[in-house]
Amino acid sequence: MTDAGRRSDLAAALREVHGRIERACAAAGRPAGEVTLVAVTKTYPASDVVLLAGLGVTDVGENRDQEAAPKAAEAGAAGARPRWHFIGQLQRNKARSVAGYADVVESVDSVRLAEALARAAAERPDPLEILIQVSIDGDPARGGVTGDDLWRVSDSVAAADTLRLGGVMAVAPVDWAPDRAFELLNGLSQRLVEAHPGATTVSAGMSGDLEAAIRHGATHVRIGTSLLGMRNPLR
Ligand SMILES: *Cc1c(COP(=O)(O)O)cnc(C)c1O
Repeated sequence: MTDAGRRSDLAAALREVHGRIERACAAAGRPAGEVTLVAVTKTYPASDVVLLAGLGVTDVGENRDQEAAPKAAEAGAAGARPRWHFIGQLQRNKARSVAGYADVVESVDSVRLAEALARAAAERPDPLEILIQVSIDGDPARGGVTGDDLWRVSDSVAAADTLRLGGVMAVAPVDWAPDRAFELLNGLSQRLVEAHPGATTVSAGMSGDLEAAIRHGATHVRIGTSLLGMRNPLR
């Protein structure tokens, strides 16, 4: 496809997603400006990041360091510097690399990972923003804290000078009604904000369930498929 063809496809998809966000905000009685779109560009090339940035997208999400690091460099060389959100499971030995290009790490779920990121972020000019990933159903297999680990990990992040505690992130379990999952997440977010007043971010909602997430207070929605198209099913 030509660059112009891809650009017009992305522009149309972006209008549609913004329309969904605006309607969901209106239905929830929330101002549309309260919800930030994070375009999840995993498996798609840096050229798509450049096109999306040109269309006004300010935030992009990636889930694998070995893909994201060169993509951020390539997009940056082409003049596109969106806020990069790291949204995938992260090994501690990748903390240094991720702290080099990410603005937000949304998938922190252990004190040890928080400590590795705190050390890695010492080389940055500004603190690295951290969201604590919550496992809604208590199954840690896909990542996320369970039970009281939310408080242990968030206290560890808040205590680190090189990190800034932004809030929480979750993926709704496939076998749960999204409304139930996001209502639970919202309750945890409110308790977190009581302890850490600046930690107001709620990253929830993907292509299939952004309306439910916005109903329950999401401040960030992470949208891949509805914007960029179907990914290779292996990813
Ligand atoms: C891939 C991914 C998304 C985007 O999912 P879509 O259904 O394609 O919108 C959101 N969040 C996380 C953590 C992801 O890995």
